[in-house]
Amino acid sequence: MTTDKPPAVNSDPLISTGHDSLDAHSAIPKAGHLPAAQIRQMLQQRWGDALLERLHAIGRIAANLGTPAYLVGGSVRDLLQNHPTPDVDLAIEGDVRAVAGACSAELSGVQCTYHPQFGTAILQYPDGFQLDLARCRIEHYPAPAALPEVQPGDIQADLIRRDFTINAMAISLDPENFGDFLDPYGGSEDLQHNLLRVLHPLSFLDDPTRILRGLRFAVRFQLQLETDTRGLLEEALAQDVFARLSGARLWRELKYLLELTDLPAALEKLGAWQLWTLLRPAPLELEALLARIRRGQQEIKWFHCHFSGEKLLGAAVLLTILWRDVPWAEAEKRLHYWPLAEGRHILNDLHRLSEMPVALAKASRPSVVARLWESLSLPGMLALWAEYPETDAITESGRYYLLKQRGLTSPLNGKDLQAMGLAPGPQLGKVLRRLHDARLDGAIKDKETARQWLIRQGILPAIQP
Ligand code: ATP
Repeated sequence: MTTDKPPAVNSDPLISTGHDSLDAHSAIPKAGHLPAAQIRQMLQQRWGDALLERLHAIGRIAANLGTPAYLVGGSVRDLLQNHPTPDVDLAIEGDVRAVAGACSAELSGVQCTYHPQFGTAILQYPDGFQLDLARCRIEHYPAPAALPEVQPGDIQADLIRRDFTINAMAISLDPENFGDFLDPYGGSEDLQHNLLRVLHPLSFLDDPTRILRGLRFAVRFQLQLETDTRGLLEEALAQDVFARLSGARLWRELKYLLELTDLPAALEKLGAWQLWTLLRPAPLELEALLARIRRGQQEIKWFHCHFSGEKLLGAAVLLTILWRDVPWAEAEKRLHYWPLAEGRHILNDLHRLSEMPVALAKASRPSVVARLWESLSLPGMLALWAEYPETDAITESGRYYLLKQRGLTSPLNGKDLQAMGLAPGPQLGKVLRRLHDARLDGAIKDKETARQWLIRQGILPAIQP
């Protein structure tokens, strides 16, 4: 990979935010050489005094232990872009446990959890704020797509092991040079030019998950693949690099992708990057598929809004939508090696879905409709609704089932029926099922109406009290 870059300097703010006195109208410092004073000012203006003080405190504690601390990765990227940062990540050049322990001893109310297997720690502040600490490390990939061998390293090594230039920047928290900006690969300049660039030519071969990570970043921050990086992507695909990746690692990345709010844009990009085959054959009618995906996302939201405590794997809904118009075997071969517990249900739903509209239209009683909906998994149900407008009878019927019918139970249970003289066994099961149907159809509503119904059906003798 060459390191040719677009011209570095222009007079725009570094990362235009439109509402930040820091950036507005100030001449841009040469990218990669942001002065510490400017970084300190950004931290203060964008993250506030309280967080700035916390970073100062950790920097002091780490320096006292002789283990410099740096703000790294996505936090630096988010700071420069003035985006809210979900996690604040620190890299420590030394013993993480010692730094975390000292922070918890010296900083009032701060709790530390150390994870020896990863050499990482979490600092938890009394107000719920959390900081992640990891040891700076060197990574070596023994084989393409294998997990890396890891050993302790310094901040430079820790930056070169990273995925993209925009994630390979650091800010020193050392009291001597707090705010020093480390940007050895030109991440700030790439951010400024909306470019996604890997750090070295073997990056995608070492770790193909970076391709999907990159796609997510490209969608999230509207980035373009830098020319050499695009070439490296094509090379990696020509070498069928995903075939070497474990199903578990591939599924993890695909699940993140499917969870993106902006999934339609991500799927468009998946096509542009020649990656459809990871999920399915390239669709002939992309727009129609994206419309169904949007509807599916809408139904997932609807579900969470009405059943907030109930688990639903949104990715399973979206996969079902994605696989509706491809041969069943396309889904089956992927699910064969992705560790997805819902896989069996998805395959079952894909068989059932085509029959559903006709069966629903024919269903004469509410109990028959409910049994039809029951034959699908939750994701399968939502995937079917996504094929119709929100106001369609099918969507309405499915929503009615979930809201009104699913929770209905028979007023009499097995014990009640035995107390009434019915023998245990399969016959009892059938009676219970008929009672449930009668409840769904509105023929019974409580124990007494159920008892009378049993008499009318000849299941109980009329003289029963
Ligand atoms: P987000 O806002 O999505 O959390 P992030 O950049 O913090 O973005 P993480 O997945 O939390 O993303 O990763 C933290 C950092 O670890 C990244 O910024 C990147 O530098 C590095 N990283 C994560 N995964 C990889 C990978 N597969 N290869 C190289 N570096 C990685």
